[in-house]
Amino acid sequence: DRFKESKVYLRALFDYTPFEDKATPCQEAGLPFTRGDILQVVSQDDPTWWQAKRVGDSNLRAGLIPSRQFQERYTTKIIFFFTYVDLLENCSALTAGLRRSFRLSRKEHQGSTKESHPAESEENEFLIYEEVTLYQMRTQDKPRLVVLIGSLGARINELKQKVIAENPHRYGVAVPHTTRPRKSHEKEGVEYHFISKQAFEADIQSNKFIEYGEYKNNQYGTSLESIRSVLARNKVCLVDVQPEALKTLCTSEFKPYVIFVKPCIPEISREQKLSISIFLSSCEKDEDLQDMRQSAEQMEQQYGHLVDRVLVKEYSASACVELRNILERLEREPQWVPVSWVR
Ligand code: 5GP
Repeated sequence: DRFKESKVYLRALFDYTPFEDKATPCQEAGLPFTRGDILQVVSQDDPTWWQAKRVGDSNLRAGLIPSRQFQERYTTKIIFFFTYVDLLENCSALTAGLRRSFRLSRKEHQGSTKESHPAESEENEFLIYEEVTLYQMRTQDKPRLVVLIGSLGARINELKQKVIAENPHRYGVAVPHTTRPRKSHEKEGVEYHFISKQAFEADIQSNKFIEYGEYKNNQYGTSLESIRSVLARNKVCLVDVQPEALKTLCTSEFKPYVIFVKPCIPEISREQKLSISIFLSSCEKDEDLQDMRQSAEQMEQQYGHLVDRVLVKEYSASACVELRNILERLEREPQWVPVSWVR
């Protein structure tokens, strides 16, 4: 019913092209949008077609967008269609991409665990729209958590460390836990919290870590507490995590701002490839570029709906400057966040 009040803003979680939509009553009246666009809904009187404007558009006229309910039914039909096509296999690359994203929705559906982020909740199991509102950080508010996720080759740890080193009073890093022995120059609680294997195991069991992994027979992990302690000191906490951790972090407590750091991957034609093969072998091999491209695509497809900002990293130095600018703007300017974070 709150939709009737008109000041409803939605973040689109899918791309919509009216000219490709056979179901629309009038293609010219449709409002095209891409995932991530913010839509101001001006009428939801019709159960099938809502009227909306794109925020930031100079066009004052509202256009038609499919209602959540209608798009959900449509998505369900596509899932059934692709389940059938799955049996036949052999689809074009395009349909393969579509299938993957719908499979994801299906998996979330079957997984039935209710997540705290609206984009992951039952209401949004098909990733259609997410209700958002503008959030302006006030000086008395705790800083927001900044989550960096990166595809293969993005080297975000280096980026994060540089930005923190430039301004250690403003930015902080969550100190990880490890089971490896402390080196002589290291201090407890600075580089790591050094704990025993048993203690680490117990922490895993009690869900203390947002992520953990093994390296050379030692365990490493980042805890929720270590993030909280940075924020409690009124610093912006930067974490780089596996994107699976986003589910745990997308809460009103952390209000994470998610930056996807994507390496700049050159598009190379076959002819170019032959002529610059010597160059390629000295930096990035062709297969490496392929892997990087695939990793970025996969990340975008699976987690794109949770990303607030994409940072294309060409050079390390320019990426640092851009990241710093993004962080400064984050404190100065209001940002769209899920309504459930501020209610
Ligand atoms: P080192 O023992 O040399 O300090 O770190 C070795 C490696 O452990 C790092 O290169 C990194 O890959 C991994 N590592 C460090 N901190 C963490 C963490 O919080 N989580 C995970 N999964 N790995 C970490």
